[in-house]
Amino acid sequence: MMGPPGSGKGTQGKIVAEALKIPHISTGDIFRQAMSEATPQSEELKALINKGQLVPDSLTNAMVFKRIERSDCIGGYILDGYPRTLSQAEVLDAYLAEKHQNLDYVVMLDVPEETTVDRILNRRFCKSCGGSFNITTNPPKIENICDYCGESLSARDDDNEETVLDRIKVYEKETKPLIEFYESKGIVCSIAGDNSVKEATKEIGKCLGRDI
Ligand code: AMP
Repeated sequence: MMGPPGSGKGTQGKIVAEALKIPHISTGDIFRQAMSEATPQSEELKALINKGQLVPDSLTNAMVFKRIERSDCIGGYILDGYPRTLSQAEVLDAYLAEKHQNLDYVVMLDVPEETTVDRILNRRFCKSCGGSFNITTNPPKIENICDYCGESLSARDDDNEETVLDRIKVYEKETKPLIEFYESKGIVCSIAGDNSVKEATKEIGKCLGRDI
């Protein structure tokens, strides 16, 4: 699942993974979990992520491979937000080739920059159950309270105006070149990510040849 920050990778990744009954592996979620634990690594991660910078490739690759090796990934998995650099994509290719595996599809969510910035600044999450909302397009029933578990909602620390612009710049420079890399392998599905969540999910289903 690829696309600029705020394009809906997390939302679509979760929906598709649930429908296909396979794990949803989000590097952002893995790092946020690691940041919430009091370890020497968490301070290093916070410093990078809260400035909108990428985590080093070697650490990112190691965390993803450790996750892929778990037994629940045998029947497939959705990668969300990974790979994000050409080097990550090349290392992933080599890793999968060694296991006689390959990526079947790369879903590219296309969304204009104005839309992604608005979405990011308006999104709120529940740290307790992972519920996600948008205060204008998908607000919770009670202001700032999660519909699913009743806990308070908050914005991600890196979802502020300054960091968002840096994250978009990083995306343009480091991640966008991957589209060409995967297009040359003929596995990219471009999806209009500025439609409704349901419409985008339907489009993804069509591309994967699955009724989602
Ligand atoms: P996300 O939840 O996908 O928006 O990711 C949040 C942040 O985690 C990013 O802005 C990066 O700082 C870091 N991150 C997530 N995935 C990667 C990756 N594949 N490589 C490097 N850093 C990443």
